[in-house]
Amino acid sequence: MSKAKRSVVVAGGGIGGLSAALSLAKTGFRVTVLEQAAQFGEIGAGIQIGPNAFHAMDWLGVGDAGRAKAVYIDKLIMMDGMSGEEIAHVPVDQPFRDRFKNPYAVIHRADLHGVLHDACVAHPDVTLVNDERVVAYENTATGAKVVTEAGHVFEGDAVIGADGVRSKIREQLTGGDALKLSGHVAYRAVLPIEDMPEDLRWNAATLWAGPKCHMVHYPLQGWKTFNLVATFVTDIANVGTNEPGTSEEVLSRFGDIVPRARKLLEVPKTWRRWVLGDRDPIENWTDGNVVLVGDAAHPTHQYFAQGACMALEDAVCLGDALARHEDFNTAFLAYQTLRIPRAYRVILSSRELGRVYHAQGVERLVRNKWLGDKTPDGFYDSLAWLYGGNGLSG
Ligand SMILES: Cc1cc2nc3c(=O)[nH]c(=O)nc-3n(C[C@H](O)[C@H](O)[C@H](O)COP(=O)(O)OP(=O)(O)OC[C@H]3O[C@@H](n4cnc5c(N)ncnc54)[C@H](O)[C@@H]3O)c2cc1C
Repeated sequence: MSKAKRSVVVAGGGIGGLSAALSLAKTGFRVTVLEQAAQFGEIGAGIQIGPNAFHAMDWLGVGDAGRAKAVYIDKLIMMDGMSGEEIAHVPVDQPFRDRFKNPYAVIHRADLHGVLHDACVAHPDVTLVNDERVVAYENTATGAKVVTEAGHVFEGDAVIGADGVRSKIREQLTGGDALKLSGHVAYRAVLPIEDMPEDLRWNAATLWAGPKCHMVHYPLQGWKTFNLVATFVTDIANVGTNEPGTSEEVLSRFGDIVPRARKLLEVPKTWRRWVLGDRDPIENWTDGNVVLVGDAAHPTHQYFAQGACMALEDAVCLGDALARHEDFNTAFLAYQTLRIPRAYRVILSSRELGRVYHAQGVERLVRNKWLGDKTPDGFYDSLAWLYGGNGLSG
């Protein structure tokens, strides 16, 4: 049977699901994306994306559209929140772009999602369906199908689970592995530029590292807004996702931070907060004609700023594997063979970075010396394995 007539059902219409849909449509499949929400969209917050994400977007045919929406920062800075001194910075200006052949940038999540959504809408072989929450999948004699909460059945030759950190597809595929709540809570806000203290309006992704806490800020949306994320370690067990948070709570967790940085946390009038979690790595993402991508496969802490980048890479790798292998299961196994070591290197590194960002006492001194001694080329060499890729290499 020709590939043009084969069809794939994707559960979840986030960055992972839409990029997978685009990749498969580009490879010659008809794709139906099922999204549980009433509308396709993303939360109002920023995201950092490395050159590897742009390489993946180039492969998907949306690189120029993504670059047009991005803000090009000059550097990544780590500040010591206790002393107020710079620990280290990584220049991401022209020499970085020359080396990695694409920029490091920041972008509003809705803009990144919108670029993928526009490309899916424009593709004749992609169908987007809202208000369908997938609850189960089944391998069939001819392919695979999903059932939704409303009792609807969507059948195809294969199913892609792109339904995020609390994936129903993963739950069934693994038999239910535990979400590991880290005890870390992230507060997010987007500030109009005029509310951002002038002495912190840096063209950089800036991270202030403090004891058991850190915060990140960077410009967004053509410098009209600033993205702010404040993360701290807590023993609160019952924090949900995307729920309202209070200034009092976030300020109480940043008591040891220098006033210059701390005053920024007084600015937002409204905050949203998330409990952060990941899952332990698993050795298999595939069940017959069903496979996982994005956070469904490898949910991560945000500390490497690579979760969405990995989802984009997954999509490229999946499309390439399906272009090379007629049989879905063979393609999915080839995909996971490449993706598992690379994606989990990011996930495990992110756990370690949490410790680096939240260091105190002697660990803080070691961190400051270790990172402070690194040269730009030293940073570039350490990151070459990551930023040089697009999903087609391990
Ligand atoms: C605070 C924070 C900061 C971050 N910063 C960065 C960063 O700077 N850079 C970066 O690359 N990554 C970052 N990430 C990670 C990134 O957000 C995720 O890795 C990425 O969004 C994963 O995309 P996804 O499509 O796999 O999952 P999701 O974004 O979770 O999308 C899943 C989609 O599936 C839908 N869905 C869920 N269940 C079902 C179901 N049963 N049926 C149908 N639909 C369903 C959901 O509604 C959603 O639309 C950050 C994460 C956090 C929490």
